[in-house]
Amino acid sequence: MTAALRSFFIERSPWLTVPAIVLVSVGSSVGMLFILVALLHHDYGTLFGRPLLISIIAPMVVSAPVGGYIVHLLREVDLARQHAQDLAWLDALTSLLNRRRMIELGEREFEISRRTGRLVTAALIDLDNFKLINDTHGHRSGDMVIRAVAQAAKGQLRRADLLGRWGGEELLLILPDTDLEAANLVAERIRVAVEELQVESQQGQQIRCTASIGLSLLDRDTSFDGWVDQADRAMYAAKTAGRNRVHAHRRD
Ligand code: GH3
Ligand code: MG
Ligand code: MG
Repeated sequence: MTAALRSFFIERSPWLTVPAIVLVSVGSSVGMLFILVALLHHDYGTLFGRPLLISIIAPMVVSAPVGGYIVHLLREVDLARQHAQDLAWLDALTSLLNRRRMIELGEREFEISRRTGRLVTAALIDLDNFKLINDTHGHRSGDMVIRAVAQAAKGQLRRADLLGRWGGEELLLILPDTDLEAANLVAERIRVAVEELQVESQQGQQIRCTASIGLSLLDRDTSFDGWVDQADRAMYAAKTAGRNRVHAHRRD
Protein backbone atom coordinates (compact mmCIF):
# COMPACT_ATOMS: atom_id res chain seq x y z
CA MET A 1 0.00 0.00 0.00
CA THR A 2 1.42 3.40 -0.84
CA ALA A 3 2.24 5.79 2.00
CA ALA A 4 -0.55 8.17 0.97
CA LEU A 5 -3.11 5.37 0.93
CA ARG A 6 -1.86 4.08 4.26
CA SER A 7 -2.14 7.46 5.95
CA PHE A 8 -5.63 7.81 4.42
CA PHE A 9 -6.70 4.57 6.12
CA ILE A 10 -4.92 5.35 9.40
CA GLU A 11 -6.64 8.71 9.68
CA ARG A 12 -10.02 7.17 8.98
CA SER A 13 -9.58 3.78 10.63
CA PRO A 14 -11.94 4.43 13.58
CA TRP A 15 -14.65 5.07 10.99
CA LEU A 16 -13.59 2.21 8.72
CA THR A 17 -13.65 -0.42 11.45
CA VAL A 18 -17.38 0.15 12.05
CA PRO A 19 -18.49 -0.66 8.45
CA ALA A 20 -15.98 -3.52 8.40
CA ILE A 21 -17.52 -5.08 11.51
CA VAL A 22 -21.02 -4.53 10.05
CA LEU A 23 -19.89 -6.25 6.86
CA VAL A 24 -18.57 -9.28 8.77
CA SER A 25 -21.76 -9.48 10.84
CA VAL A 26 -24.01 -9.21 7.80
CA GLY A 27 -21.93 -11.82 5.96
CA SER A 28 -22.21 -14.25 8.89
CA SER A 29 -25.94 -13.58 9.33
CA VAL A 30 -26.65 -14.24 5.68
CA GLY A 31 -24.73 -17.50 5.98
CA MET A 32 -26.71 -18.51 9.08
CA LEU A 33 -29.92 -17.66 7.25
CA PHE A 34 -28.95 -20.01 4.43
CA ILE A 35 -28.44 -22.86 6.91
CA LEU A 36 -31.72 -22.09 8.67
CA VAL A 37 -33.69 -22.00 5.42
CA ALA A 38 -32.09 -25.23 4.27
CA LEU A 39 -32.88 -26.97 7.59
CA LEU A 40 -36.45 -25.67 7.84
CA HIS A 41 -37.26 -26.90 4.38
CA HIS A 42 -35.78 -30.31 5.23
CA ASP A 43 -34.24 -30.12 1.86
CA TYR A 44 -31.32 -32.37 2.67
CA GLY A 45 -30.55 -32.76 -0.99
CA THR A 46 -29.69 -29.11 -1.37
CA LEU A 47 -28.41 -28.84 2.23
CA PHE A 48 -25.27 -30.66 1.17
CA GLY A 49 -25.38 -28.90 -2.18
CA ARG A 50 -24.78 -25.31 -3.09
CA PRO A 51 -26.69 -23.42 -0.30
CA LEU A 52 -24.68 -25.04 2.51
CA LEU A 53 -21.47 -24.48 0.65
CA ILE A 54 -22.33 -20.83 0.08
CA SER A 55 -23.56 -20.38 3.66
CA ILE A 56 -20.26 -21.57 5.13
CA ILE A 57 -17.77 -20.37 2.58
CA ALA A 58 -19.31 -16.94 1.90
CA PRO A 59 -18.98 -15.60 5.47
CA MET A 60 -15.51 -17.10 5.76
CA VAL A 61 -14.40 -15.53 2.51
CA VAL A 62 -15.84 -12.18 3.56
CA SER A 63 -14.78 -12.18 7.20
CA ALA A 64 -11.24 -13.58 6.97
CA PRO A 65 -9.69 -10.77 4.90
CA VAL A 66 -11.83 -8.09 6.51
CA GLY A 67 -10.95 -9.36 9.99
CA GLY A 68 -7.29 -9.52 9.03
CA TYR A 69 -7.46 -6.03 7.65
CA ILE A 70 -9.07 -4.71 10.84
CA VAL A 71 -6.23 -6.20 12.90
CA HIS A 72 -3.71 -4.71 10.47
CA LEU A 73 -5.35 -1.27 10.69
CA LEU A 74 -5.49 -1.34 14.47
CA ARG A 75 -1.82 -2.27 14.61
CA GLU A 76 -0.93 0.57 12.24
CA VAL A 77 -2.94 3.03 14.30
CA ASP A 78 -1.18 1.85 17.44
CA LEU A 79 2.24 2.24 15.80
CA ALA A 80 1.33 5.71 14.53
CA ARG A 81 0.14 6.73 18.01
CA GLN A 82 3.33 5.33 19.57
CA HIS A 83 5.45 7.19 17.01
CA ALA A 84 3.61 10.48 17.64
CA GLN A 85 4.02 10.00 21.38
CA ASP A 86 7.76 9.33 21.01
CA LEU A 87 8.14 12.50 18.94
CA ALA A 88 6.34 14.50 21.62
CA TRP A 89 8.05 12.99 24.66
CA LEU A 90 11.52 11.82 23.68
CA ASP A 91 14.70 13.67 22.81
CA ALA A 92 15.75 12.89 19.23
CA LEU A 93 19.48 12.53 19.94
CA THR A 94 19.48 10.46 23.13
CA SER A 95 15.98 8.93 23.21
CA LEU A 96 15.77 10.08 26.82
CA LEU A 97 12.73 12.09 27.95
CA ASN A 98 12.85 15.57 26.48
CA ARG A 99 12.81 18.74 28.57
CA ARG A 100 9.06 19.32 28.19
CA ARG A 101 8.18 15.78 29.30
CA MET A 102 10.71 16.02 32.15
CA ILE A 103 8.94 19.16 33.38
CA GLU A 104 5.53 17.42 33.21
CA LEU A 105 6.65 14.27 35.03
CA GLY A 106 8.99 16.16 37.36
CA GLU A 107 6.21 18.52 38.46
CA ARG A 108 3.92 15.55 39.05
CA GLU A 109 6.59 13.86 41.17
CA PHE A 110 7.20 17.15 42.96
CA GLU A 111 3.49 17.53 43.87
CA ILE A 112 3.14 13.93 45.08
CA SER A 113 6.23 14.27 47.23
CA ARG A 114 5.10 17.58 48.68
CA ARG A 115 1.69 16.12 49.56
CA THR A 116 2.92 12.84 51.00
CA GLY A 117 6.24 13.96 52.46
CA ARG A 118 8.07 11.38 50.35
CA LEU A 119 11.76 12.10 49.83
CA VAL A 120 12.84 12.86 46.28
CA THR A 121 16.17 14.11 44.97
CA ALA A 122 17.02 15.89 41.72
CA ALA A 123 20.41 15.57 40.04
CA LEU A 124 21.76 17.82 37.32
CA ILE A 125 24.51 16.23 35.25
CA ASP A 126 26.70 18.46 33.06
CA LEU A 127 29.59 17.22 30.93
CA ASP A 128 32.94 18.81 31.68
CA ASN A 129 34.79 20.91 29.12
CA PHE A 130 32.50 19.73 26.39
CA LYS A 131 33.33 22.65 24.12
CA LEU A 132 36.85 21.24 23.96
CA ILE A 133 35.53 17.82 22.91
CA ASN A 134 33.53 19.45 20.12
CA ASP A 135 36.48 21.59 19.06
CA THR A 136 38.89 18.63 19.06
CA HIS A 137 36.73 15.88 17.54
CA GLY A 138 33.90 17.72 15.79
CA HIS A 139 30.25 18.28 16.61
CA ARG A 140 29.11 14.88 15.31
CA SER A 141 31.54 13.03 17.54
CA GLY A 142 30.34 15.28 20.37
CA ASP A 143 26.81 14.08 19.65
CA MET A 144 27.98 10.48 19.89
CA VAL A 145 29.48 11.23 23.30
CA ILE A 146 26.22 12.77 24.56
CA ARG A 147 24.33 9.69 23.36
CA ALA A 148 26.79 7.30 25.02
CA VAL A 149 26.69 9.25 28.30
CA ALA A 150 22.88 9.15 28.24
CA GLN A 151 22.93 5.35 27.88
CA ALA A 152 25.62 4.94 30.52
CA ALA A 153 23.61 7.04 32.99
CA LYS A 154 20.41 5.18 32.20
CA GLY A 155 22.15 1.90 32.88
CA GLN A 156 22.64 2.92 36.52
CA LEU A 157 18.98 3.64 37.28
CA ARG A 158 15.82 1.94 38.50
CA ARG A 159 12.64 1.89 36.42
CA ALA A 160 10.94 4.52 38.57
CA ASP A 161 13.76 7.06 38.12
CA LEU A 162 13.23 9.82 35.55
CA LEU A 163 16.09 10.76 33.26
CA GLY A 164 15.84 13.43 30.59
CA ARG A 165 17.93 15.69 28.39
CA TRP A 166 17.65 19.06 30.05
CA GLY A 167 19.83 21.06 27.66
CA GLY A 168 22.74 20.61 25.22
CA GLU A 169 25.05 18.39 27.27
CA GLU A 170 23.03 18.49 30.48
CA LEU A 171 20.82 15.72 31.85
CA LEU A 172 18.26 16.03 34.62
CA LEU A 173 17.62 13.05 36.87
CA ILE A 174 14.77 12.76 39.36
CA LEU A 175 15.07 10.02 41.95
CA PRO A 176 11.80 9.24 43.75
CA ASP A 177 11.95 7.79 47.28
CA THR A 178 15.60 8.72 47.53
CA ASP A 179 17.35 10.78 50.20
CA LEU A 180 20.57 12.71 49.61
CA GLU A 181 22.77 9.90 50.84
CA ALA A 182 21.25 7.31 48.49
CA ALA A 183 21.19 9.85 45.63
CA ASN A 184 24.87 10.50 46.23
CA LEU A 185 25.60 6.80 45.68
CA VAL A 186 23.62 6.78 42.41
CA ALA A 187 25.31 9.98 41.21
CA GLU A 188 28.73 8.57 42.08
CA ARG A 189 27.93 5.42 40.06
CA ILE A 190 26.96 7.60 37.10
CA ARG A 191 30.08 9.74 37.47
CA VAL A 192 32.30 6.63 37.40
CA ALA A 193 30.36 5.12 34.45
CA VAL A 194 30.90 8.34 32.47
CA GLU A 195 34.57 8.49 33.45
CA GLU A 196 35.08 4.92 32.21
CA LEU A 197 33.35 5.52 28.89
CA GLN A 198 35.37 5.46 25.70
CA VAL A 199 33.71 6.69 22.57
CA GLU A 200 35.36 6.26 19.20
CA SER A 201 35.38 9.49 17.24
CA GLN A 202 34.65 9.69 13.52
CA GLN A 203 38.40 9.86 12.96
CA GLY A 204 38.92 6.69 15.02
CA GLN A 205 40.28 8.37 18.15
CA GLN A 206 39.15 7.39 21.64
CA ILE A 207 37.21 10.16 23.36
CA ARG A 208 36.92 10.24 27.13
CA CYS A 209 34.92 12.65 29.21
CA THR A 210 33.81 13.41 32.75
CA ALA A 211 30.72 14.89 34.35
CA SER A 212 29.93 17.19 37.25
CA ILE A 213 26.76 16.39 39.15
CA GLY A 214 24.69 18.61 41.46
CA LEU A 215 22.12 17.14 43.87
CA SER A 216 19.17 18.74 45.59
CA LEU A 217 16.75 17.10 48.02
CA LEU A 218 13.24 18.47 47.59
CA ASP A 219 12.18 20.76 50.39
CA ARG A 220 8.59 21.86 50.79
CA ASP A 221 9.32 25.57 50.59
CA THR A 222 10.59 25.62 47.01
CA SER A 223 8.87 25.47 43.64
CA PHE A 224 9.78 22.87 40.99
CA ASP A 225 11.96 25.48 39.24
CA GLY A 226 13.60 26.45 42.52
CA TRP A 227 14.37 22.80 43.22
CA VAL A 228 16.07 22.29 39.83
CA ASP A 229 17.87 25.60 40.31
CA GLN A 230 19.34 24.33 43.58
CA ALA A 231 20.64 21.22 41.77
CA ASP A 232 22.07 23.54 39.10
CA ARG A 233 23.90 25.63 41.67
CA ALA A 234 25.25 22.48 43.35
CA MET A 235 26.48 21.34 39.91
CA TYR A 236 28.31 24.66 39.45
CA ALA A 237 29.85 24.22 42.89
CA ALA A 238 31.15 20.84 41.69
CA LYS A 239 32.66 22.61 38.64
CA THR A 240 34.32 25.21 40.82
CA ALA A 241 35.70 22.50 43.10
CA GLY A 242 37.54 20.95 40.12
CA ARG A 243 34.90 19.10 38.00
CA ASN A 244 34.36 15.31 37.74
CA ARG A 245 32.63 15.21 41.13
CA VAL A 246 29.28 15.14 42.87
CA HIS A 247 28.14 18.07 45.00
CA ALA A 248 24.96 18.35 47.07
CA HIS A 249 22.95 21.49 47.74
CA ARG A 250 22.91 22.21 51.46
CA ARG A 251 20.16 24.21 53.08
CA ASP A 252 21.51 27.13 55.10
P1 GH3 B 1 32.01 23.14 31.68
O1 GH3 B 1 32.93 22.09 32.20
O2 GH3 B 1 32.16 24.43 32.42
O3 GH3 B 1 30.60 22.69 31.61
O4 GH3 B 1 32.54 23.42 30.22
P2 GH3 B 1 31.76 23.22 28.85
O5 GH3 B 1 32.75 23.38 27.76
O6 GH3 B 1 31.01 21.96 28.87
O7 GH3 B 1 30.84 24.47 28.89
P3 GH3 B 1 29.32 24.60 28.68
O8 GH3 B 1 28.62 23.57 29.50
O9 GH3 B 1 28.94 26.00 28.92
O10 GH3 B 1 29.19 24.32 27.13
C1 GH3 B 1 28.47 23.30 26.61
C2 GH3 B 1 28.89 23.07 25.19
O11 GH3 B 1 28.20 21.93 24.70
C3 GH3 B 1 28.54 24.20 24.28
C4 GH3 B 1 28.01 23.58 23.03
O12 GH3 B 1 28.84 23.81 21.96
C5 GH3 B 1 28.00 22.10 23.32
N1 GH3 B 1 26.75 21.49 22.96
C6 GH3 B 1 25.53 21.84 23.38
N2 GH3 B 1 24.59 21.04 22.82
C7 GH3 B 1 25.24 20.17 22.02
C8 GH3 B 1 24.83 19.10 21.16
O13 GH3 B 1 23.65 18.77 21.03
N3 GH3 B 1 25.80 18.44 20.50
C9 GH3 B 1 27.10 18.76 20.61
N4 GH3 B 1 28.00 18.06 19.94
N5 GH3 B 1 27.52 19.77 21.40
C10 GH3 B 1 26.61 20.46 22.10
MG1 MG C 1 26.28 22.91 30.07
MG1 MG D 1 29.49 21.48 30.27
